[in-house]
Amino acid sequence: MTFKDLGLSAPILKALDRIGYQKPTPIQEQAIPILLQGHDLLGCAQTGTGKTAAFSLPIIQQLMQTPPHRGQRPVRALIIAPTRELAIQIDESIGDYAKDTPLRHAVIFGGVKQNAQVNAIKRGVDILTATPGRLLDLMSQGFVSLDKVEVSVLDEADHMLDMGFIHDIKRIVARLPEDRQSLFFSATMSPEIMALSKRILGQPKRVTI
Ligand code: AMP
Repeated sequence: MTFKDLGLSAPILKALDRIGYQKPTPIQEQAIPILLQGHDLLGCAQTGTGKTAAFSLPIIQQLMQTPPHRGQRPVRALIIAPTRELAIQIDESIGDYAKDTPLRHAVIFGGVKQNAQVNAIKRGVDILTATPGRLLDLMSQGFVSLDKVEVSVLDEADHMLDMGFIHDIKRIVARLPEDRQSLFFSATMSPEIMALSKRILGQPKRVTI
C-alpha cells in the first residue's frame, strides 16, 4: 500500500517524498480513505502511530479542493489538543505537510502573551491548532470565529477529560457549525469518552489500531 493508493494528491505526495515517509502507517492506511470520503471518524490510537498525518493529510487535501474564503479568511479546520507541547507538534507537522500548498496554519495556546497569536490569526489562518482555554479566550474577545469550520479534530480526548477540559470542550463544540466533518481520537475508550464522542460525532466510522 502506498500513499498514492490511499487517494492523496500530487502536492501532498510531493511533501511526503520530501519528508521521507515511504509508506503509510496502519492508522494512515485505515483512516485516510475514510476521511477523504468525508466521513466522521472515531479513532482509537495513541500518539506515535502516525495519527497526526492520518488526520492532517486528508484535511489539507480537502481544503485545497475549494478556494479559501475571500477577505478575512476564517478558520476552516480546527484541531484541539490538550497540551501546548502537542499543539505545537501538530502545527509543525501541518507546516511540513502543507509546505507546497497555499494553505496557512497557526497554533494558539495559553501561558504566553496573546499578541503574536492574535496577529497570526488576523493575517488569516486556514488550519488552526489550539488548546481549549486559549481558544475560548480568543473567541470571547472576538479574535477567532468558528462559523466557517468545515472539519474539526479533537485529539487525545482521554487526556482532555483527565485534565478537566470537558466543559471547555462542550463550549467549543457548541460553537462549531453542525454541518462539518468531525474527528475524535482517544487512546482509551471509557464510557465517558464514548458519551463525549456521541455528542461530537454524527455517524462515525471507527478505526482502532
Ligand atoms: P504521531 O503519532 O503523529 O505523533 O507521529 C509519530 C512520528 O511518526 C512522527 O515523528 C512522524 O513524523 C512519524 N511518521 C508519521 N507517519 C509516518 C510514515 N508514514 N512514515 C514514517 N514516519 C512517519
